Parts: sequence; structure tokens; C-alpha cells
Amino acid sequence: MTLYPTYSKRVSMSRITSSKTFGGLHPKMRDRIQRLMEASGGKVGLGQGLRDPKQQLQLFLSRHYVDPNGKYSYDGKKWSRHQGVAAAVPPGRSMHEIGLAADLVGDMGWVRDNAARFDLQTFEHVNNEPWHVQPTELPRGRSSYQRDPEWGMPPWDGAGGADASPSTPGGSASGGAAAGGALTPALRARPGDTGPAATVMIEALIARELLADADASRDGSYDQADRQIVEDFQRSGNLVVDGIVGPQTWGALLTEVLPGDTGPHVRVLQVTLIVRGMIRDTAGNRDGVYGSATQDVIRQFQTLAALRPDREVGPKTWTALIGEKKRIQVSSGPDVLGGSADDEVDEDEEFDLDDIDILAVMEGRAGE
Ligand SMILES: [Zn+2]
Repeated sequence: MTLYPTYSKRVSMSRITSSKTFGGLHPKMRDRIQRLMEASGGKVGLGQGLRDPKQQLQLFLSRHYVDPNGKYSYDGKKWSRHQGVAAAVPPGRSMHEIGLAADLVGDMGWVRDNAARFDLQTFEHVNNEPWHVQPTELPRGRSSYQRDPEWGMPPWDGAGGADASPSTPGGSASGGAAAGGALTPALRARPGDTGPAATVMIEALIARELLADADASRDGSYDQADRQIVEDFQRSGNLVVDGIVGPQTWGALLTEVLPGDTGPHVRVLQVTLIVRGMIRDTAGNRDGVYGSATQDVIRQFQTLAALRPDREVGPKTWTALIGEKKRIQVSSGPDVLGGSADDEVDEDEEFDLDDIDILAVMEGRAGE
């Protein structure tokens, strides 16, 4: 039986393909990496594919130190890289975290000569990282990719290894997986809908005092009476009157939620997190209080979504939570209609060209 190298030892192909780090890759990446390894006849194996945000944070912290004059921004601080170590991006900025990069081990000459046959580009000439491969047709940097996520965002179909335990007891934080379920298709509510989008829309109408704050309103169904309300709301806001709650209407309905906020607009956020599977559906998680446990969930989500992890739920975070590609321009407070909060600062574009890392020195094995 042919054995393939990992960081620690040589293993069978099935051992690699049943690992989480392989299973969490995008299906096309799984196919390409497996075909490459098989074609190498055991010369090349897998070190790491999917990496969770905690591992990414560890890697980043091991390579950087806080420095007021540093060129990298993370967690509200400036950082510089230790001398002589390779680049590593902070959590939320690596293609590994979304299953679109893999670090190969073994014969790097073979990788260099053959990667293109499998539609993989190596980073040998990008940052002297011959083992790091990504799909040739996608941008190298994660934030570039996420501006136009051609292959979508995780969780991927059939990603057997992906850790899918989205519920967090009492809304408490539980690792990066909490946010994974949120990077899903858009919540767009259409008349007749039942389900997550309708549920969030109803909570938003209640927060706007357009629907009664009563159990009867919360039936999870976008019915004809709701449609009348939505269309009146769209008319009054000079929006397209079509009854469809997409980016524009979400923008008019939703408001910024800040740490410590309380009230019905917070409940809209809580219900969004519930339908996204990020917190449990309990009475306590619908209490209209944006407390520290929920803030932790948002911080993790922001990290995973490559947003500034400031716990403030403004236009960008709402856009990512609702799952729309088009910016949702929410108003800046619960009582203000038509305003615009701006959480657009502090995008670290420098990481676009630096979205790479070295794992050869990291402990880690395929198969974990
Ligand atoms: Zn890598």
C-alpha cells in the first residue's frame, strides 16, 4: 500500500481523506489535492488543509508582537513580525480557514513541476512557500476572494470533517464553529415564505412597531397581512414596492446593535443568530439584551467573516449575517431611520498580498 507523508509520519490515502483537515476543504480542493497526491505515488502528502481560527490565532501570535509602530493591525492593536519568521495572517484572513488552501509535505520539487496540472498554484514565488497551494483560478488573498466568492463560502457540501456543532448553550461562545453556520445563503424574505428569513423579518417588523409584539405575530410565516405591511413600509421609504425583503428593505428595517444595547432591535439580532444556528433558541436568548455571551458569538463571527472583531453589529456585520452580497446599509440606532452607520474603517488590505503562512514548523498531523 502506498503511504503518503504528513508532518509526523507516512499514512494511507484513506487516513488522509478521512481527516478533518482534508474533509473541511472545498470539494474541488479535495479532488485536486487527492489527485495530486495519488499522481505523486507517495512523494507528496498533506500537512494541513482546513485550519480553525484558534489555530490561526496561535500561529499569528507565535510570529508577532504588539508594537505601536507595527504595520499589521489586529484586535485593535498594531503588530510587528518577529525577525526571521515567516508571514502569518490573523484569524479570519487565511484561505485555510475557509478550506481553499492546503499545505503539502514531501517532495516540493515534484509539487513545483506538477501543481499546475491539477489547477493548483504554489506560493513558492509569492512568499517562498512552495508547499502552500491554492486554486489557480481564484484570488490569492482571502478578502479579495470574499468580495466575489465565486466558489461560495463554507460549510461545504459533504465536508465530512467540518465540525458542525452550531448551538451554544445559553448563547455562550464555543469556538469558531459557532459562526460557520452563518456563512450561508441570503436570508431574503418573499411573500408566502416560511422559515428563517420570514422569522427574522417578522421580528424586525415587531421591533419597528409595525406588527404586534405577540406570539400570534411570530408564526414564522410571511402571509398576506405581512405583505401589506412590508409594501406600505417600502412605499413610505421610497423603496421598490415588491414585498421582497432584500438588501434595501433589510437596510431600512434593521438597526445597528452595540455592546450593552437592550430592546426590541437587539431581539432582531438574537433571532437572526438563532435561525443561523449560532445560539440556542431559548427564552434567555430572546431577552433583548446584547450581553457579553452574545457579544462573544458576534466577535467570533466577525473574525471568521474577516471583519473587524469589535462586537458592533453595523452594516458590514449585518450584511454578513443576513448573507447578502450587496451591502445592507442599516441605520445607526434603533430610533433613527435612514441614517448610516460606518464600520468600514480598519480594513487591512495589506494582508491581501500577504495571505500566506508557513506551517512546516507547526505541530500538526493530517488525521486530527
Ligand atoms: Zn498554507
